[in-house]
Amino acid sequence: MSDSKVLLTPGPLTTSTQVKQSMMSDMGTRDQEYYDLAQETRMMLLRLAQADERDYTAVLIPGSGTYGVESVLCSVVKENEKVLILSNGAYGERMGQICQKAQIPYELVRCSMIHQLDVKAVEEQIAREDITHVAYIHSETTAGVLNDITGLQEVIHRYHKISIVDAMSSFGAVEMSMDELQVDYLIASSNKCLHGVPGLAFVIAKRSHLDQCANVAHSLSLDLHAQYRFMEDNLGAFRFTSPTHVLRALHRAMEEMIAMGGVSARHQRYVKLQRQFREAMVKQGFQTLVPAQDQGVVITTFLYPQGFDFAHFYEYFKSNGFLLYRGKLSDYDAFRIGNIGAIEDKDVDRFIALLQAYYKKENGK
Ligand SMILES: *Cc1c(COP(=O)(O)O)cnc(C)c1O
Repeated sequence: MSDSKVLLTPGPLTTSTQVKQSMMSDMGTRDQEYYDLAQETRMMLLRLAQADERDYTAVLIPGSGTYGVESVLCSVVKENEKVLILSNGAYGERMGQICQKAQIPYELVRCSMIHQLDVKAVEEQIAREDITHVAYIHSETTAGVLNDITGLQEVIHRYHKISIVDAMSSFGAVEMSMDELQVDYLIASSNKCLHGVPGLAFVIAKRSHLDQCANVAHSLSLDLHAQYRFMEDNLGAFRFTSPTHVLRALHRAMEEMIAMGGVSARHQRYVKLQRQFREAMVKQGFQTLVPAQDQGVVITTFLYPQGFDFAHFYEYFKSNGFLLYRGKLSDYDAFRIGNIGAIEDKDVDRFIALLQAYYKKENGK
């Protein structure tokens, strides 16, 4: 019997049966069939990003999403340049850690994690002479805030800076067009809103800038430019052993997504799931942390009610087949429910029934 659980987390997440089945084959990595799969996957990613192939390229980086972010920061900021990180959560902080470790010149502006970045308030920082790159998170998974990518890109362009956007938990969930937004580097991974399995990050990169970044990285495996050139020159081949099963799963997951109506259909599905979870929780007395106007569509943060025993609550759901998200927020007693992944209506119904039963029992009714 399968011991799979329904994952109510921000990734990895529940995958469909077809995605799981797509991994039941072994592939060689130095074989035309695999190169073709990689090339097609890169093209599908560009199409989802609404990125013109002449201006943009999709570079695949093995590893979790952080490897993708690290690969960009290490590969495109030169010694005499400086990246401004606009942070409103743990993933912005992580960008700072990456820069610190790799000795990449950076400055980090720390903003509230429960609100969108205030575009007006950060403009002065973006405008600074010494800043060449601006990095931020589109969907900050920490509290669940969705930042205003259009507004931020506008200001970044006004001052002619290079943009680096972590779109890990928005790519596939929020309609966006690289051709319009003109993001220079957009990073996401296979195991978030595309519903693949963990193990592969990717970067949608503007060729005109990446072409100027040869030999910038002080890393071999995370050198984005080297990976890009190798994939381009060898028609989809990776430099080193790549996660073949993960790539198959990502390709399958995107086919499934497109057949189900693409990004806009997925967005609507998430909105619906999130509302169902939120309404059921609010009914039991939970409060959400993020104001409605700042709230994204992939994850919701709930504050602990008075006397709440999260460990007990967590184990109850786990023993009934659901994994809640355990990750703590630094400033709040709160937990999160993710609504991405192949969550079916029957799963939602069962979650709501379990939640009601939990509180009946708790109250000794
Ligand atoms: C998931 C996520 C990442 C990457 O985290 P990994 O654990 O390395 O996959 C980065 N940024 C955001 C906003 C995320 O949601």
